[in-house]
Amino acid sequence: MSDTRDTAKRKYYASFEAALADSNVPLENVDIARQVAAAIPHDTVYIPQQTKAYVALRTASERRLSATILAGHAWVRSDLAPLLGDLAEHQGNWWGVPFPVRREVERGSARGAVSLAAPVCGDCFVQLPVTGICDNCDG
Ligand SMILES: [Zn+2]
Repeated sequence: MSDTRDTAKRKYYASFEAALADSNVPLENVDIARQVAAAIPHDTVYIPQQTKAYVALRTASERRLSATILAGHAWVRSDLAPLLGDLAEHQGNWWGVPFPVRREVERGSARGAVSLAAPVCGDCFVQLPVTGICDNCDG
């Protein structure tokens, strides 16, 4: 099974820039999204087609996600978070990177605090484990 083909579930891109152009990341957040993608090692980029909720950065050789870039924040696997220094904030099993414009963050959270739901698989909506491997899709 190739990791670079287009499937009904995932559209793959040759570069993060190509995926970014196709994503719902607002202009104000593009710079920080690029910073995350530049710092986090990955060799595959795709957008899950069911939700188009994020750009996934994946390490194909390890069969797991490195990070997901959403419209208003990013999720980064905990073992990769140190690569982002102060950008990443500990959020349970994953690390969150809040973007300047945070559309999908719930109202009512403390000012300045990141309050994000745990990252879910864009293909099957199961909550992603700390490993970044979706048991349903990548197991
Ligand atoms: Zn899945």
